[in-house]
Amino acid sequence: MAWWSRTGGLEAEPKKSVPKGIWIKCEKCTATLYESDLIANLRVCTSCGHHLRMPTDERIGMILDSEWTEHDTTLESSDPLGFKVDGKKYTDQIRSATKKTGDGDAYRAGTGTIGGIPVEAGFFVFEFMGGSMGSVVGEKITRQFERALAHRRPAVLFSASGGARMQEGVLSLMQMAKTSAARSRMREARVPYVAVLLHPTTGGVAASIAMLGDITLAEPDALIGFAGPRVIEQTIRQQLPPGFQRSEFLLEHGMVDQVVPRLELKAALVRALRWFTHTPSPDAGDTIDDSELAAAHRDDDLP
Ligand SMILES: [Zn+2]
Repeated sequence: MAWWSRTGGLEAEPKKSVPKGIWIKCEKCTATLYESDLIANLRVCTSCGHHLRMPTDERIGMILDSEWTEHDTTLESSDPLGFKVDGKKYTDQIRSATKKTGDGDAYRAGTGTIGGIPVEAGFFVFEFMGGSMGSVVGEKITRQFERALAHRRPAVLFSASGGARMQEGVLSLMQMAKTSAARSRMREARVPYVAVLLHPTTGGVAASIAMLGDITLAEPDALIGFAGPRVIEQTIRQQLPPGFQRSEFLLEHGMVDQVVPRLELKAALVRALRWFTHTPSPDAGDTIDDSELAAAHRDDDLP
């Protein structure tokens, strides 16, 4: 028996709704931003300069000069361990991530140009299971580096990842060694690799391929590290310094060569790629200031 019923009284007010996807709130300063303005500003908050997450499609459009030739789009993860967590099968997780993103896995690689320089570019898709690295991601990165080596084109890799994918267990951890080995063959052949660290780059990806660039650029305030700050604090029983594991902290401690705001990122990449490939600037007035780059390098990395 119901204790009360709503048969009369106040009429429910019609819900006032704001159409989705028009306004976005900055997670840092809470300013409400018009989405089209935000996109025009490469998703950097026009109020406080905070770098909001940029969807991979937009990132690819921002970095490459024009259309690219994407490779290995049909590679798919199998489920070798028959993994299940909270009653959800790994295969179902893959399927729903594919439906959400339109991508087969958490990495996209292809051949294109940046500032007119041919490159083998690769992008972690954070929207796909947190950009986690399993067998497919590892294979795509390895193939990207092998193409770079075969054609002597620089490789550029944008990382945004929660780390190795637990659903594939040790097979995910093996990708750390596999991608690092491919990168090592490039180094022996002196083919350059530019690493760009985005928020967040953590776990097994940070502990392998993301940190092996000839030059390492990072977006401002990106979280970069192996274990999270809370885990470290609990393990060492010490409070961590302010800004720990952020790009600027890593720059101060020599783990990152340059922190580059997103609005300047493509220009910085072009500058680095020209320097590595000895490509003169087409614009006579635009001289390459390579002193900064050279200072950021260890001697053994020089081409
Ligand atoms: Zn803001």
